Amino acid sequence: MSMNQATGLSDGELRQRVRDDLGRGKLFRVDGNGFAGRGTQQRCTVCNRPIPTPDIEIRIEEPRQVFAHLKCYAIWLEESKSLFESGN
Ligand SMILES: [Zn+2]
Repeated sequence: MSMNQATGLSDGELRQRVRDDLGRGKLFRVDGNGFAGRGTQQRCTVCNRPIPTPDIEIRIEEPRQVFAHLKCYAIWLEESKSLFESGN
């Protein structure tokens, strides 16, 4: 099992957290409309940790501006899609 350096959570733990947050409405669903750029020390909306400058930061503008680590965003996107496919 690989650990996520940015969050200290395993991939599985991070995925479960994203799933829970989507279910509770803490996270909205994403559809791939993220903008990639260099980290600007913003707090990741998925794992709640800052995104350091050497890392890639994903910025989402709609429905509100949030930021996420590339890896967190990838999981968030996958879980958003599987939630949609399950018809929830
Ligand atoms: Zn993150």
